[in-house]
Amino acid sequence: MDAAVKITSELIKKKTITPEDDGAIKFLTNILSASNFSCQEIHSGNVKNLFARWGPKNPEKTIGFNGHVDVVPPGDTTLWEVDPFSGIVKDGEIIGRGAVDMKSAVAAFTAAAVEFADSNKPNGSIVIAITGDEEGEAINGTKAILQWMLEQDERVPHFIVGEPTSKETLGDMVKIGRRGSLTAFFSSSGTQGHTAYPHLASNPINSINTLITSILNETLDQGSEHFEPSTLSFTTIDVDNVSNNVIPAKCEATLNIRFNDLHTSETIIAWLNKHIEKTNKKHQAHISMNVKVSGESFINGNSPFVKMVTKEIKDTLNINPILSTSGGTSDARFIKEFSEVLELGLVGKTMHKVNEKVKVDEIVNLKNLYKSILERYFTEEI
Ligand SMILES: [Zn+2]
Repeated sequence: MDAAVKITSELIKKKTITPEDDGAIKFLTNILSASNFSCQEIHSGNVKNLFARWGPKNPEKTIGFNGHVDVVPPGDTTLWEVDPFSGIVKDGEIIGRGAVDMKSAVAAFTAAAVEFADSNKPNGSIVIAITGDEEGEAINGTKAILQWMLEQDERVPHFIVGEPTSKETLGDMVKIGRRGSLTAFFSSSGTQGHTAYPHLASNPINSINTLITSILNETLDQGSEHFEPSTLSFTTIDVDNVSNNVIPAKCEATLNIRFNDLHTSETIIAWLNKHIEKTNKKHQAHISMNVKVSGESFINGNSPFVKMVTKEIKDTLNINPILSTSGGTSDARFIKEFSEVLELGLVGKTMHKVNEKVKVDEIVNLKNLYKSILERYFTEEI
């Protein structure tokens, strides 16, 4: 059995629902240190992370791989064909939580790095940065590793995140940026009253309704060179009212916006404030807003690093990958502050689903691709 498949299976056996580690970081540390990686466990809050480096500190060339070993809960396990934490390899595939998101990729780049390290002398360094907090709040994960790296002056000019980016077949899509994400929580306070005497009350549903309509009637943009148009979705409208003859005192709504590089969270917030002001004026209402920014949008463009990886995918898999910025946020949003970062991984169709699965051939193909990227990285000019 290929080492990458074996590592995937072993990792899936570890119940690593965020922030549980269940020995995953220790397991990877043992593999990497056996091939002369110097390993450092980085603890933050209740999360275990790993920083491993093969080769000297800060040579001219250092390439890093980033991934997470934590997973989302399996949900109702009776719906699964097998125990989601069994790690059983059967009929050429592994069904299990984390099979594509993203224990296979962690296994693939770990095995690729080990194979490369065992048969080459360093003319640069390889860094493996693994976190146990990506699916959760992500505050004790890659962010904490990067903070530690900053304090230790560990520099990694190029990073690959192994998130499942491929669409139909391995390598058909590389992510070179991501949309930003922002959630706005609106609250309108009115005056509670009797529905028979609405003139004595002030109904906050009316102002929230106007606000929602006003926001939905505008489009943020038509998309940009590397980005699809920004999108917005209202996700809750809450009144929490049990009576049908009482005008409620409060109405709340939640809006999530995925925005491209034509905006920043600041310009989006200003845009939302304009809608609020207009609505408050119209209804003499009191709508307030709280905002949570999960990440700004970013783009890596067509850099030499992106070109090198694209070329390797073409040579190894005979595919011209689409350079995309679609999908949700990932830890690349933190890494981009320090390094050039791109994301390349398996086909993500079953991620977070019941019977999440991966073909063992795909794990091996991904490992071989990561390995040939390493070979190219250390022989070509970047
Ligand atoms: Zn993931």
